[in-house]
Amino acid sequence: MKWTGVRGQILTEVSMKRYTSMRVGGKARYLVYPEDQTDLTNAVRMAKEHGIAYRFLGNGTNVIVSDQGFDGVVIRTRKMAGLRFSRTTHGVRARVGGGGSLKGLIKECAKRGLSGIEKLFGIPGTVGGAVKMNAGSFGSVISDHLMEITTVDESGVSRTVGRGDLSLGYRTSGLSASDCVTWAEFLLKEKDLESIKGDMAYVWGERINKHPMEWPSAGSVFKNKNGQPAWQTIDAAGLRGFRFGDACLSPKHPNFIVNLGHASALDVKRLIEKVKKEVYEKLGTVMEEEVELWGFNG
Ligand SMILES: Cc1cc2nc3c(=O)[nH]c(=O)nc-3n(C[C@H](O)[C@H](O)[C@H](O)COP(=O)(O)OP(=O)(O)OC[C@H]3O[C@@H](n4cnc5c(N)ncnc54)[C@H](O)[C@@H]3O)c2cc1C
Repeated sequence: MKWTGVRGQILTEVSMKRYTSMRVGGKARYLVYPEDQTDLTNAVRMAKEHGIAYRFLGNGTNVIVSDQGFDGVVIRTRKMAGLRFSRTTHGVRARVGGGGSLKGLIKECAKRGLSGIEKLFGIPGTVGGAVKMNAGSFGSVISDHLMEITTVDESGVSRTVGRGDLSLGYRTSGLSASDCVTWAEFLLKEKDLESIKGDMAYVWGERINKHPMEWPSAGSVFKNKNGQPAWQTIDAAGLRGFRFGDACLSPKHPNFIVNLGHASALDVKRLIEKVKKEVYEKLGTVMEEEVELWGFNG
C-alpha cells in the first residue's frame, strides 16, 4: 500500500511483542506514528480507503495481541504529546497530548506543585489510553480531574467534549474504538510539594510491594466484580500461581498474568479462559476482562 499524506514513520510487518507490555503476539501489518492531528486523520483515511482495519495504540500496556498478529494498521500516538499549563481562577489547567506519558505528566505537575492525579503515578500508559480506559488506582480515577478532551473520529472530524458528555464508568469512558483522544485537559489545584511527592512515593512503594513489576504483564487482567477485588476471586478459585507454559497467574498478585520468559499469546488466552471457567464453576462469578485482546478469533 502506498501511503500518501502521512509524514510520520510507517513500519511494516512489526512484531507486537516489542510494542506491548505483555511481550507476546505476532505482527501488525503496519505500525504508523502520526506527527500530528492532520497526519492521524490521513492515516485513518488511508486505512479506510484500502479497507484495512485500524486501532489506536498508546504504550500497549492494556492490550494483548494474538500470535497471528493484527492484520491491519496500528496507529501509535506517542508523537502527539504536547503539554501546556495555564492559570485560571479555579486552578491550573494542564493541556496534554493524547500520546503523552501519564507518568511524565504527573511528574511535571508535581514539579509545579499541582495536585489531582498523583495517585495514578505508576500506571504505565499514555494519557489517551488512560482516558479511554478511565484508568484508576488507589481510590483515584483519571476522569476525577478531567475537564474536557479533544477527539478525532473516523471521518476526521475533531470534537472537544466536556467530561459530562462522556459515559464514564469503571474502566470505561464510553469512547468508541474509532475515536482517538488527541488532547486532554485537567484542572489541578496547587498543593504543598512535599505532600504530592509523599503520595507519589507511597503509591509507587505499594506497587513495588504488591505487584509483580519484575515481569512483563498487562497489569490487572480482570475487572473487580461485586465489590470484590479480582485477585481475591481468582485466589478463592485456587488459581494463584497456575500457569500455561510461561504465562502464569502471579503468585504475588493473581490478577496479573506475568510472562515468565517465553509465553505465547495463546498461553495467556488459555489462562484467561481457564480463570473464567473455573471461577464460574466454583464461585458462580462471571469474570470480565479489563485487558483488550486483539486479533483473536472467538
Ligand atoms: C504494570 C502495570 C500496571 C498497571 N496498573 C494499572 C492501574 O493501576 N490502573 C489501571 O487502570 N490500569 C493499570 N494498568 C493498565 C494500563 O496501564 C492502563 O489501562 C493504561 O491506561 C493504558 O494506557 P496505554 O497508553 O498503554 O493504552 P494501550 O494499552 O495502548 O491501549 C488501551 C486502549 O486504549 C486505546 N487508546 C490508546 N490510546 C488512545 C488514544 N489516544 N485515543 C483513544 N484510544 C486510545 C487503545 O485503542 C485501546 O483500546 C497497568 C498496566 C501494567 C502493565
